[in-house]
Amino acid sequence: MVNSTIVVVVAEAKEKAAQGVDFSPRYGAVCPECGEKRLKVITSKPWKDGCKIRYHRCTNLKKGCLLAIMETTIKSVQTGE
Ligand SMILES: [Zn+2]
Repeated sequence: MVNSTIVVVVAEAKEKAAQGVDFSPRYGAVCPECGEKRLKVITSKPWKDGCKIRYHRCTNLKKGCLLAIMETTIKSVQTGE
């Protein structure tokens, strides 16, 4: 029998990562799951139409962050000039 609570938690974490987080000039991208700041940048796209998209990975295995365990890519969006 599948533990449905775990399935829901995993699905929610993946959804948060896919939806993306705001990129802050001060804290960088913050993990939507564990709150880790300045996530490591995997891919950085050029500025386009006033926004810049980056893809990050959380490495906070110590806290048991689901996104780190699953090696899920986290999208961040920075808006500005
Ligand atoms: Zn995390």
